[in-house]
Amino acid sequence: MDRLEHLHRRIRACTRCADAGYIPFARPVVAGSSLDRIAIVGQAPGAIELTTGLPFSGRSGAILRRWLAEAGIGDDELPYRTAITKCFPGKAIGGVGDRRPSPAEAKLCAPWLEAELELLRPRVLVLLGTMAIDRFWGRVALEDAVGHRRREPSRVLLPFPHPSGASRWLNDSGHARLLRRAIGLLRLEAAALRTYPPRPRGPRTSGLTMQSAQSDCGDAGGA
Ligand code: SF4
Repeated sequence: MDRLEHLHRRIRACTRCADAGYIPFARPVVAGSSLDRIAIVGQAPGAIELTTGLPFSGRSGAILRRWLAEAGIGDDELPYRTAITKCFPGKAIGGVGDRRPSPAEAKLCAPWLEAELELLRPRVLVLLGTMAIDRFWGRVALEDAVGHRRREPSRVLLPFPHPSGASRWLNDSGHARLLRRAIGLLRLEAAALRTYPPRPRGPRTSGLTMQSAQSDCGDAGGA
């Protein structure tokens, strides 16, 4: 077992938010391997992921997979997939969409995300939605981040809207153009990575079987 797999085992055993009373029970979801050079950080798993145990298994996962395909990233090379918080936060009050994890939950889960990124050291970090953008890019309007790229010393940040809320955000044609630009940037970065020597091979920790979702949830959260 490599160090990342060992970390995944520890994450999957975490019950901090349940212990603190934020969620009724913990079922952390994370997937990917130490071979991955692109990492996607979403908001939190949705109800579908709770049953599959895999990130982005629901409808927003299907949208994400389409964006990845448009960037030239096929199902056989899906990036590392994680989130700001790794347990389903439950439905939002009123039952429309999933609850946005609280700052306290994000803080409890932050050491896991930091440990993942420390071990993985992805060259490209796809920031999916406002929680991930706030965390890594800084708090800006979505339209001021999507379609832009930030080069840091060891990685490139690429903000995207969250697929679960993207349909509303993308109703604006200007926003749709920003998404096209973001996909184009991801295509460029993914193509550049293919020219790098491969990382040493090791076992993949998990794959992803996308299923067509009947639910409004996927990975939780708005755009
Ligand atoms: S959201 Fe994160 S910190 Fe909270 S119980 Fe799940 S894995 Fe642990």
